[in-house]
Amino acid sequence: MLEIQSDLHTHTVASGHAYSTVDEMAKGAFINDIKLIAITDHGPKMPGGPHLYHFGNINVIPNKLYGVTILKGVEANILDEGRLDLENDMLKTLDFVSAGIHRQTGHTLKNKQDYTEATIKAMENPYLDMITHPVQKEYPVDLDIVAKAAAKNNVILELNASSYSTKKDSFRGIKSESIKLLKLAKKYGFQLAINSDAHFHKDIGDYSNLEFIFNSKHYDRNLIINRSQDSVLNYLRLREQRLKELKKTI
Ligand SMILES: [Zn+2]
Ligand SMILES: [Zn+2]
Repeated sequence: MLEIQSDLHTHTVASGHAYSTVDEMAKGAFINDIKLIAITDHGPKMPGGPHLYHFGNINVIPNKLYGVTILKGVEANILDEGRLDLENDMLKTLDFVSAGIHRQTGHTLKNKQDYTEATIKAMENPYLDMITHPVQKEYPVDLDIVAKAAAKNNVILELNASSYSTKKDSFRGIKSESIKLLKLAKKYGFQLAINSDAHFHKDIGDYSNLEFIFNSKHYDRNLIINRSQDSVLNYLRLREQRLKELKKTI
């Protein structure tokens, strides 16, 4: 059995710089023995990214394809003051909401303090489930502060396999910082996700670039929210309850 059986971060042709359709992604997951995927195309501020209608119409995609559970989500862009490039009215219709800081998306964040503050503000959004690639050379954050906020706001932090891809000229990740996340998850009690960030269907569930994580003495499978389909479905049940409570308070 696979160590990690689902993948909460994948891109389709809708992202503009990814190369597989939803159908191909589902087949790719099936072939790689991955039971559940989240389709998380980029938010509309990404150059070449989808129009808002993409998210408005996303429920035409079935909940299961080739036996693979499909969550309909987004990887929104974190902008100035931690705003996201989709409104909450849209976010609340999605199954899974992630967000990360990306280039050329219109933000004017400049330094570690800015990246850290924007990330924390984004985590205060009640619809946000996960921060993507919190460890990246280009946008360093104070991991200790981000980790505490993740625990407080019940947000998942990601260990991103594509950040360590050997297909690219250089990694965007920092191995020591990703290991630090393992330690912080234990210390503060937030959840991690191990995801491919696949931009092509063959890469779904390929976590081979994260061997250093699996081999770390700090690695604990129980901290990984997407270790199995059941662990994700359980998370989604708690999420639904949380959002119902929120509805009552507004
Ligand atoms: Zn990203
Ligand atoms: Zn991505």
